[in-house]
Amino acid sequence: MGRVIAVANQKGGVGKTTTAINLASSIAAAEVDTLLVDCDPQSNTTSGLGLVKDPERISTYHLLMREASAEQAVQKTELDQLWLIPAHKNMIGANLELVEVERREFRLRDALAPLRDRFQYIVLDCPPALDLLTLNALVAADSILIPMQAEYFALEGVSELLDTVERIRASLNPELTIEGVVLTMFDDRTNLAQQVTAELSRFFGEKLCQTTIPRNVRLAEAPSHGKPALLYDVRSRGAESYIQLAKEIIGHSMPVQEMPVQEAERPAEEKQVVNAPRWKRWIKERNKLTTINILDR
Ligand code: ATP
Ligand code: MG
Repeated sequence: MGRVIAVANQKGGVGKTTTAINLASSIAAAEVDTLLVDCDPQSNTTSGLGLVKDPERISTYHLLMREASAEQAVQKTELDQLWLIPAHKNMIGANLELVEVERREFRLRDALAPLRDRFQYIVLDCPPALDLLTLNALVAADSILIPMQAEYFALEGVSELLDTVERIRASLNPELTIEGVVLTMFDDRTNLAQQVTAELSRFFGEKLCQTTIPRNVRLAEAPSHGKPALLYDVRSRGAESYIQLAKEIIGHSMPVQEMPVQEAERPAEEKQVVNAPRWKRWIKERNKLTTINILDR
């Protein structure tokens, strides 16, 4: 069953969409079937992957309103193993329209349920608000990935977000975990960034991702070309850092490094203990990610 990760932070402009697009693309580039779902009426993920605005196209709005199935909404992208459920600005209305409907917090979860066997990862890009759209994403998700900038007020607002996660866990989605906190637009040369990182590390412990995403102009340019960074400029620091983040996140659900590598070479009958086919596949995926990094240098 696929893992659903919501990229969320109610603070605006912290790199949610950039993270959702580039994390999902980097996972897909490792030959892992991945679905990206645009849950934000701003539709930046949709346009960032090169889809022109089209009010007729089936979008996340139709899923929330139960006017279409998720299968009908899935669109292909330029990457073979990345698919997209687009958004449209008409989703702004969904926040109000949902208030009156039954299972209003479960609409996205219900809609995505039939796709969870088809995709190994489903990444949800959330709007900058703790509204019903974000709530739907957090109820549909197994985990939340929180992009954050290393700035003086970084922790402001985070307690509200963590409270929301706690409340959802206590009522609507007991399985929800924190996938990680990832520092975006990071410049480790400044003292401030280092101080804030130390503080965040004390606060979040091992939940603070080891990978940081540097401020990199290629990441900002790529969406205007309708491409994820790895198709726009795979050698850029931005593209490389998201490939590294994908490795780290894949490692959370399959901690490959802790398992003996020779395991993959053992004959099939000896492998039952470690769920052999999956293990072999993950080894392959990890190498493929590494290959992208090395070959393109
Ligand atoms: P919103 O809250 O409006 O949805 P967001 O959290 O999704 O915003 P993004 O849209 O990903 O944030 O990023 C905000 C702006 O910063 C965009 O112009 C984006 O191109 C730019 N940006 C994001 N990450 C980086 C980076 N690592 N380096 C340079 N520019 C970046
Ligand atoms: Mg966004």
